[in-house]
Amino acid sequence: MIRQNLERVHERMAESALRAGRQPAAVRLVAVSKTFPAEDVLAAWECGQRDFGENRPQQALDKIARVNEALGEQHPIWHMIGHIQSRQAKWVAAHYDWVHSVNRQKIAQRLSRKAAAAGQELPVLLECNVSGEESKYGYQLSNWERSEVVREQFFQEVAQILALPALRVAGLMTMAPWVTDPETVRPVFVSLRGLRELLRERFPAVAWAELSMGMTDDFEVAVEEGATLVRVGRAIFGERGKDW
Ligand SMILES: *Cc1c(COP(=O)(O)O)cnc(C)c1O
Repeated sequence: MIRQNLERVHERMAESALRAGRQPAAVRLVAVSKTFPAEDVLAAWECGQRDFGENRPQQALDKIARVNEALGEQHPIWHMIGHIQSRQAKWVAAHYDWVHSVNRQKIAQRLSRKAAAAGQELPVLLECNVSGEESKYGYQLSNWERSEVVREQFFQEVAQILALPALRVAGLMTMAPWVTDPETVRPVFVSLRGLRELLRERFPAVAWAELSMGMTDDFEVAVEEGATLVRVGRAIFGERGKDW
């Protein structure tokens, strides 16, 4: 099942990329394995899947340890995609290879400090709330196109994060609101891409290469609008339990 699902998701990603005149190889699939066991991660690994996403820093540590141990020398690229509490920064820096959810100064500082102590550089994305949905974490940027104040405040935050020694800021991440028709959230993805253009002008020394956007219900639209990382769980591993 996981094999067929992965194949189907890759096909749909490639079709979306081609529709938008993009190279399919420019989009990476992060398989979101939250709530699913280590066995499912290993099954996906057997199919060639290398990037995995988890959203609860601590709960996933056992799974990560089991998977890494089972694979010996090699191991997956683990992406932290969920909200990080301050006290969790040490685990995140120690066990994850990418962080998509840098959404405030304090967490950026802690991650940088931990990564520096370990002699590592941690690739991170800045989590941006461009839809204005209140339940979502991230820099509040729903007004960025209209409000210079919002833009300038964000630039200041970004400048401080760029000054941290052990983080490599690679781009932006967003979560679109949940809707039945994915076309509805296209403007959210367009907005994140626009924000990236602005950051490229303002901070040209940074490549801003990555846009992490798109999940099971909307990844095709996200790829059409420039996603370089899509975070897909259910379409690969199946439905999660009800309390998710
Ligand atoms: C759970 C989750 C996903 C994947 O969602 P699916 O609907 O299972 O594809 C993507 N991003 C984040 C931040 C998540 O928490």
